[in-house]
Amino acid sequence: MTETDVVIIGAGHNGLTCAAYLAKAGLRVGVVERRKVVGGAAVTEEFHPGFRNSVAAYTVSLLNPQVIRDLRLAEHGLRIVERRAQNFLPSPDGSSLLTGEGRSAQSIARLSTHDAQGFLDFSRELEAIADVLRQFVLRAPPNLVEGFGAGAIREGLGALGTANILRKLSLEQQRDLLDLFTRSAGEMLDERFETDLVKALFGFDAIVGNYASPYAAGSAYVMLHHAFGEVNGRKGVWGHAIGGMGAITQAMARAARGHGVGIETEAGVREVIVEKGRAAGVILDNGTTIRARYVVSNVNPKLLYTRLVPAQALPAEFLARIRRWRNGSGTFRMNVALSALPSFTALPGDGDHLTAGIILAPSLGYMDRAWQDARDLGWSRQPVVEMLIPSTLDDTLAPKGQHVASLFCQHVAPELPEGKSWDAHRDEVADLMIATVDRYAPGFAASVIGRQALTPLDLEREFGLLGGDIFHGALTLNQLFSARPMLGHADYRGPLKGLYHCGSGAHPGGGVTGAPGHNAAQAILSDHRALFASR
Ligand SMILES: Cc1cc2nc3c(=O)[nH]c(=O)nc-3n(C[C@H](O)[C@H](O)[C@H](O)COP(=O)(O)OP(=O)(O)OC[C@H]3O[C@@H](n4cnc5c(N)ncnc54)[C@H](O)[C@@H]3O)c2cc1C
Repeated sequence: MTETDVVIIGAGHNGLTCAAYLAKAGLRVGVVERRKVVGGAAVTEEFHPGFRNSVAAYTVSLLNPQVIRDLRLAEHGLRIVERRAQNFLPSPDGSSLLTGEGRSAQSIARLSTHDAQGFLDFSRELEAIADVLRQFVLRAPPNLVEGFGAGAIREGLGALGTANILRKLSLEQQRDLLDLFTRSAGEMLDERFETDLVKALFGFDAIVGNYASPYAAGSAYVMLHHAFGEVNGRKGVWGHAIGGMGAITQAMARAARGHGVGIETEAGVREVIVEKGRAAGVILDNGTTIRARYVVSNVNPKLLYTRLVPAQALPAEFLARIRRWRNGSGTFRMNVALSALPSFTALPGDGDHLTAGIILAPSLGYMDRAWQDARDLGWSRQPVVEMLIPSTLDDTLAPKGQHVASLFCQHVAPELPEGKSWDAHRDEVADLMIATVDRYAPGFAASVIGRQALTPLDLEREFGLLGGDIFHGALTLNQLFSARPMLGHADYRGPLKGLYHCGSGAHPGGGVTGAPGHNAAQAILSDHRALFASR
């Protein structure tokens, strides 16, 4: 048995971030991770001999600049580079759209001058709102508390701060914000734009990790969620971490260890110890007991409360509600080793477009059909695929002259209908994804010399992502902000004393942000100071 101040369940990027902040403040911190490597969904692994890739999360933008600074990630080896183009959308009719690096308006104007102006207006609108929402990222949302104690006073002050931030938006911007939180992306985009590719450019962000039609209410928020980020100070753009996403979490692990954090891998937690209504430590799969004053969970909240915390220790209504926590983002993830770069019919040969997020989903109607199909059959006959070829920006991933690509495929059913198993259909669906790319870039299939396919079931087995949910729970209004993971627990504190949430199932949700880890650390440090002040 060992004993420490803090034990963190999971060494995902948020667990590592939380650990580093707590240890920097002087607490003794241990992190226990079920996998062989740290990083959770932000890892780089060799998936085919000689070929490495970010095997799950694959592109960076949301990682908070304050977290980068505070943990000195650059000094710990992190280097993030910008793509030479942001997005490339080829269409089967031979037209295409290429955005980023000053070329978006011109590229859109070739399709529609109306949409070129609309693009600038809508981008400005999103950016203004994202600017304000960024101020919510590194603070706990208002939390609902019962009674009039110290907690209520703290929350009252917090809510005033929130109101002050929102006051910076004009009335018209507040109306836009309400639209973005509640409406469908599809409706909003149809009102503004006339060309399919421009609608698809924004619409794709509304269905990433969101198993829903782009016409589903609330999908506009998911689109906004993807606009919060920045790379090297440039807002709203996406980039690449040299060495892959694992370079981020390796730098975080170095930062944490530098402050004295002990990190143990192949150390899965079997159970959270609860004594007298208080979390008091964890028991590992190998039987080791670690006692701690603070137990912090980096795992999906449903996994924590339905598999690790003994049911009898939880309030019945809390347990009933967390069992209804909605997981399942409907994503299928592939890593492919390539003997050559693809050449797209719509824009043949090499070029900056091969460094972009290449979106193969040419219209909102296509995305809607993909979702309908997946509901009926388990996957769509014409799937939505985003391809990224990080080796065009980073020569550490593949042998010289060869490449690696990520295929991030949306709209497969988290669970297949009629009792079918993903184990029986993995290869068939992987073939379909490759054939889909091949339709836009003939010869692609022949260039694939190695591949890894991760179904939603594989994402759950390998990374602990229940239902394959990439965000630890859907980004729907009833699971966001003060309701993440539940009204009354948005302040990173669980229903048991001494138990905290630091993963993507807490505000502000999924993505490689570091924000839940940072915010949870602040809540724990505040409780720790209060404890010692009261002695
Ligand atoms: C396929 C895919 C693509 C994505 N693409 C992007 C992207 O390009 N950009 C982006 O910003 N975000 C992306 N995301 C989302 C993002 O990666 C996640 O939201 C984020 O990494 C989650 O981080 P986390 O630290 O909260 O949790 P995780 O990374 O899920 O970490 C939780 C950790 O807990 C461990 N664990 C689980 N159970 C136990 C246990 N019983 N005991 C001990 N440890 C346990 C897990 O092994 C894991 O290491 C993607 C996610 C996926 C899956």
